[in-house]
Amino acid sequence: MSPKATAKPGAYNPDLTPWVVGIHEALDDPATFEVVCMKSAQVAWTDGVLLNYLGKRIDIAPVPMIVMFAKEQAAKEFNSEKFEPMVECSPRLASKIPITRSRDKENRWQYKGFPGGFLKFVGSNSPSSVKSTPAPITAVEEPDDCNTNVKDQGDTITLLRERSKTYARRKMIFGGTPTVEKLSRIEAAYLASDQRKFYIPCPHCDEPQVLAFEHVRWDEDATASHEVFGQARPESARYCCPHCGSLWTDAEKNRAVRLGKWRAEAEFRGVAGFYINELYSPFPGSKLVHLVEKYLQAKHALAAGDDTKMRSFRNNTEGLPYAYPTDIPAGDELRVRAEGYAEFTVPWGGLVLVAGVDVQHDRLAIVIRAFGRGEESWLVYWGEIFGSTMNPNAGAWLDLDALLTRDFRHASGATLRLSAASIDGSDGNRTEIVNAYVRSRRARRYMAIKGASEQGNDRREIFSTPRKVDTGKRHKAAKSGLETFIVGTTRAKDLILETRFKLQGNGAGAYHWYATVRPDYWDQVTSEVKAPSKLNRARKTWQKKGGARNEALDCEVYALHAARSVKTNLMQEAHWSALEQRLRQRSLLSDAEPDEGGQVGDDQVDEAGPSEGDNPVKTSPHSSPPADPGQVETAAESSPSADTSVPGVSSPARDLAPPPAPRPAAKRKTRPPPRSGGYSISKW
Ligand SMILES: [Zn+2]
Repeated sequence: MSPKATAKPGAYNPDLTPWVVGIHEALDDPATFEVVCMKSAQVAWTDGVLLNYLGKRIDIAPVPMIVMFAKEQAAKEFNSEKFEPMVECSPRLASKIPITRSRDKENRWQYKGFPGGFLKFVGSNSPSSVKSTPAPITAVEEPDDCNTNVKDQGDTITLLRERSKTYARRKMIFGGTPTVEKLSRIEAAYLASDQRKFYIPCPHCDEPQVLAFEHVRWDEDATASHEVFGQARPESARYCCPHCGSLWTDAEKNRAVRLGKWRAEAEFRGVAGFYINELYSPFPGSKLVHLVEKYLQAKHALAAGDDTKMRSFRNNTEGLPYAYPTDIPAGDELRVRAEGYAEFTVPWGGLVLVAGVDVQHDRLAIVIRAFGRGEESWLVYWGEIFGSTMNPNAGAWLDLDALLTRDFRHASGATLRLSAASIDGSDGNRTEIVNAYVRSRRARRYMAIKGASEQGNDRREIFSTPRKVDTGKRHKAAKSGLETFIVGTTRAKDLILETRFKLQGNGAGAYHWYATVRPDYWDQVTSEVKAPSKLNRARKTWQKKGGARNEALDCEVYALHAARSVKTNLMQEAHWSALEQRLRQRSLLSDAEPDEGGQVGDDQVDEAGPSEGDNPVKTSPHSSPPADPGQVETAAESSPSADTSVPGVSSPARDLAPPPAPRPAAKRKTRPPPRSGGYSISKW
């Protein structure tokens, strides 16, 4: 330890920070390929663990090593304030690394050569350094602050991890302070580890325990009225044993910490995880009185509406991720609200059927939802079609065709067909394919869509008419498929997650689900949380939880977009009644019996729903009924984007616009007048 780096120079003394010993044992264990430490500040990670390990490897078992920092500046500081001072005062390291020769090519700030290997310092914000040579030992400092995407090359940490896999005796080392609960990468890494915690024995009852701030106690003085602390007296702070109730002084606590032992709480699978917080720190700045002061200041600021200090206390002192208060229901809470109607069937209130499709390289994920008055809506299908998505006329796309053109049984006994579908073409490799698929199916009101950037300050409407590439050649542009509908993702998620998922029972806006929905739906639709944007901390954006899949949520967003394209949010009672009337008439003509609960059994697949690789469509016994040619014509002409020149009425809604609205049919005098039912229901 250099006098430049610490108040206690000399050889590193692990007595003060006994928890580092167990971490070093894991680093030396050949069966451990990943070491994760979720930590607060002041727990000797950098000096006690990382520097010591780097020094040891350089001296005893040299190999190529990479240490990644969130920013290049942090890498530079680590070199000048930590690493070089350590080498200077360690003769055995100084003899191997020419740090005094500032112009030596083996000694640049970001590159240290030594016999048998090298050590590189890189910043996660620099793509070139991420692309650099892989190494058997890779450390990532503060993974939560690292870039998730460097110039479209992907997640820097995943890249590093992938590249180091070629080494049989690899070691990845993650050390960091967690940030936001469920978004934190260090939290996710810790949860995937064997989750070790440092147990220390109570000085009074000997019971081993994990130190937590909730057990810190302090006195109140009724006569005091401190501006920030109120009646609290931080100087009275003690640690209270939850087992025997004894109060420990700082000195007692620090002595107990020296007797601590790591204990794993999950199965070991090659990843050793450690959690440690500032209560374990024996350093003067971490005395209980200071921690209590910090907590009271944070609480005071929070009461005034500023949560930054409380966030910092949670992360930097408790070493835990901060949970934003939310009242969005969890997946399990939604699940218990699911209802008894069958998959592929539409309950009474559902009158307009739409689909949202997410495109992956090996599958299509689909939500089909029925909307009714006040945009109350019913999930009709969630699932995936597996197969290649490279060719718009083959593979998964053919199965999608079958699914989107099939009949859906309405509770009235009639059948219902899709009114619109929004298909995600935002993946650069699939844009052309989605465009091609949609181009030949515009008659069915399929739209190629793209989510607006979550990072930009986007307050775009959920549905908006695409901007024309060249307004002078509107129709030409439309025909060549250049238009992509941009979905107001933020607004859509705000509406679905923050409003609609909270509505219980029936009525405007309520979302309904069938109980046999494929079980991954629930986690996926609740896979995102709103937290401060990495680029702009003052603004909150929807972000995916670590490791979660979110296609079902994306599909719900796209389905809402499709519904908005037919103006479900603007339709008046007269229009809904007309739709309902047509359904009733149709059901009288059909043989099927009306069915109150919508539980028409003949469409129902087996309990588990379609399994991987199943084409859900194959489970349908229905074949398409003969279509009414005249009405199919109507539909065939109504491209979702070809006619937007009518003021106030954007084209996709044209056929479904409320009856009193001026009908923009002037351009198409040869067409039969659009029926109020639009495409879907007219095609019975
Ligand atoms: Zn005790």
